[in-house]
Amino acid sequence: MARVMDKQDTDDRTAWRQGPPANCSVPHGKVQVPWRLVLLGAPGVGKGTQAELLHQRLGACHLSTGDLLRAVSRNHCVQSPAMMAAQELMRHGALIPDSTICEMVRERSECLRCSGGFLLDGFPRTLGQAEALHGILHDEKLSLDAVVDYELPLSEIISRLSSRRTCEKCESVCTITPEVSTPQDSCRHCGGTLFQREDDNPEAVSVRLKVYERDTAPLIQYYKRLGLLLSVDASGSPEEICARTLNALEHRLQPTV
Ligand code: AMP
Repeated sequence: MARVMDKQDTDDRTAWRQGPPANCSVPHGKVQVPWRLVLLGAPGVGKGTQAELLHQRLGACHLSTGDLLRAVSRNHCVQSPAMMAAQELMRHGALIPDSTICEMVRERSECLRCSGGFLLDGFPRTLGQAEALHGILHDEKLSLDAVVDYELPLSEIISRLSSRRTCEKCESVCTITPEVSTPQDSCRHCGGTLFQREDDNPEAVSVRLKVYERDTAPLIQYYKRLGLLLSVDASGSPEEICARTLNALEHRLQPTV
């Protein structure tokens, strides 16, 4: 099932970040089995890191709504009505309603139709978004293969969030080790400068975890009832967690092409 792919060949997320009419240059013809997955789990549990590793193993694209919203705030996207609405709301510090997020995803349905499959990260985040995703996929005659829920004790989530850094240049995410004395201020992929996300400070983290418990955790039961849930222990190294995920996927029925 798993295939190792060349990162440079396959890591083009232009179509997702910029939206139509931008094209993506990924040679998805290489992907024999397109996995269509949702990655669930509390903020900081490592969904983004797993999405990157799973992308390399399965070829499916990492589609993150958090990345989209960061692209909106930096003006790095095509100005569709949904993106302009999100930009306006963010400028005023308001939360983005389900209808706007779902519209942003719907206008990128080409990414969902992609023959390489997809790894949705950060979407859906509410029951309303889950129902909207169901509708979008139904309209595209697609269905989810599985929903992977990453589980980790709260104390470890908080510690991971405080040591999380993002590369300014390639936007890959890494964890710094405070006990290492050498400076860890550059990205191991491209040498770019690492920075800490504003919403990873302790006050923002506490709000995000409460919002997760209230709005997103109910999706675990929702997807369990639909027979799609795969729970994966998110402790250990990223490679160990990825191996557990691939193992859990292997025990499911292979998706249809
Ligand atoms: P993430 O990178 O997934 O942690 O997302 C960063 C921030 O973007 C979140 O804390 C939310 O404020 C916002 N966000 C991302 N995805 C969604 C979504 N599906 N619905 C609402 N807000 C979102």
